[in-house]
Amino acid sequence: MDDNKTCESCSENSCSAKERKLGEEDSAFQERQALTQRLCQIKHKIMVLSGKGGVGKSTVAVNLAAALSLAGKRTGLLDIDIHGPSIPKMLNLNGVPVGVKEHTIYPVAYDINLKVMSIGLLMQDRDQAVIWRGPMKHGVIKQFLKDVEWGELDYLIVDSPPGTGDEPLSIAQLIPDADGALIVTTPQELSIEDVRKSIGFCRTLKLPVLGVIENMSGFVCPHCGKVTDIFRSGGGQRMAEEMGVPFLGKVPLDPDIVNASDAGQPFISSFASSKTADIFKQVVKPLLHLKPREAEVEG
Ligand code: ADP
Repeated sequence: MDDNKTCESCSENSCSAKERKLGEEDSAFQERQALTQRLCQIKHKIMVLSGKGGVGKSTVAVNLAAALSLAGKRTGLLDIDIHGPSIPKMLNLNGVPVGVKEHTIYPVAYDINLKVMSIGLLMQDRDQAVIWRGPMKHGVIKQFLKDVEWGELDYLIVDSPPGTGDEPLSIAQLIPDADGALIVTTPQELSIEDVRKSIGFCRTLKLPVLGVIENMSGFVCPHCGKVTDIFRSGGGQRMAEEMGVPFLGKVPLDPDIVNASDAGQPFISSFASSKTADIFKQVVKPLLHLKPREAEVEG
């Protein structure tokens, strides 16, 4: 065909603009397809959220992933906390090389059932601050979801940064069929106020709230066993009841949780016989037996 004739009704510029637009649409379509194919291989997707930082969200994500792995579920743990990825440290994976081949990123195998990927594993300099705007973060998160070769998984646990900013929004949009969110709080009013916002965020995005965990709820004295409610207790439970979302339970403050995380090991496996590990396992138990989301939505 004569190219000049095709362009009679429009200027050369608008023609190349159209071609560019078609090319962009094409690659956006291919990206969406690649993402869908990848996510199709994962049965359950859970986002771990919190209103504030420092409440134990990553600790819950690591221990939930470890509990799933111990229960024989093929599990992926994805850390999308771009500004403060803590999963590599919590699992002693800092410096472990990540396999990258063409457009595929291979997650690190932590154990036979647990694979891990974190932005922290791809950063050359752990101490360098990441300064990215929203669209760049969205691009990185999309790439993580699209290009990480998890293989078939029973569960993908996504550790999101605190709050309701770009990253949780991106992940909720990119995984529209996620099973839901697990929300971690401490018992103080200040933390609970922010959790209300997280629940509102989930409702706006039609992301089911799978449950609220009240972490650092009471301190069990290792010497006498007396429980002291350092940050008060029960606030998370009351708030969950008020807002009509499931309450999964309370995890106490336990120095061995810090010891395990500093040693780079999941607490529930390294202190498996402790009372707190038992509590932790009970709290995350309902998440080990999720039904397929379609059934829930239809039912
Ligand atoms: P977040 O992801 O919400 O920022 P982290 O999971 O990184 O919080 O936890 C912050 C710190 O608190 C870590 O040092 C962790 O070991 C500690 N921590 C979390 N939960 C508990 C707990 N129940 N008892 C004692 N320390 C805890």
